[in-house]
Amino acid sequence: MHIVIEFIQRSWQAPVEIGILAVGIYYVLMFLRGTRAAPVLIGFLVLLLGLFGLAAALNLEVLGWLLGAGTVFIAFAALIIFQPEIRRLLARVGDLPLFTSVRERRENLEVIVQSAERLSEARIGAILAIEQTINLQEAVDLGIPVDCEATPEMLETIFFPNNAIHDGGVIIRGDRIAFAACIFPLTQRSDLQKSLGTRHRAAIGLAEETDAVVVVVSEETGSISYAYKGQLQRGLSLEELRSFLSSVFVPIVRARTAQERVWDFIPTWLRPRFPSRR
Ligand code: ATP
Ligand code: MG
Repeated sequence: MHIVIEFIQRSWQAPVEIGILAVGIYYVLMFLRGTRAAPVLIGFLVLLLGLFGLAAALNLEVLGWLLGAGTVFIAFAALIIFQPEIRRLLARVGDLPLFTSVRERRENLEVIVQSAERLSEARIGAILAIEQTINLQEAVDLGIPVDCEATPEMLETIFFPNNAIHDGGVIIRGDRIAFAACIFPLTQRSDLQKSLGTRHRAAIGLAEETDAVVVVVSEETGSISYAYKGQLQRGLSLEELRSFLSSVFVPIVRARTAQERVWDFIPTWLRPRFPSRR
């Protein structure tokens, strides 16, 4: 018994380390599956291991030294090459309940549902990103600032074919249309149906990088879809769209900035007091 306890005391670290590494590697692999990064990463690792093996087997000192010294450089290169994937990963970490702040919310999902209905009946193609806690500014090539109240009529007008700002997506912030004619990031997933065009790929792309809810109306079929957390749901009825929207969000009045979210972690009594403006 004594020996067993001593053995556990001396060697408990190994299984814990193996467990943590296994879970970490599993999640990284799951995350990379089907992305553009997966083949690049595999190629990169095979090349690196091959070179290390060659250097060790043939006792090539200079190559071995270069590879050893270049590890920092390689790590930096990986950071740059996989920047979009890392950004997506961080967006998901920020999504954990621990990191999201209490949201200021307001009911305007009926506007979205009615807009989807009108656009779908008229077969007008549209893509609406509803901002949540992550500011969409960094992920989106912003088009034209609009800043007007979000109404179904206004949204139908914006997406009406051939008008100057119908191309691209709209950003809805709280109960306002903040921007129109925005270019969203396209998903880099390679496992999607070929029939999915750029509008739907842009919806998935934005939903991968941010916590926005992206509603799409197809110009070709009039069908309504949404992308959320990187997943696309297609062919929804209005009732399905309404119940989804009310389950995930009651749109916020204004997305909180990164500073405000850091601020949330500081207890009130520790925050510096500024003189009141009044
Ligand atoms: P639909 O079912 O409406 O045809 P789709 O998924 O087949 O949609 P396309 O036919 O390629 O997609 O739609 C092209 C339109 O999608 C463009 O005219 C533009 O308005 C919009 N769009 C394309 N790329 C983006 C983007 N990156 N961000 C926002 N909107 C985009
Ligand atoms: Mg199309």
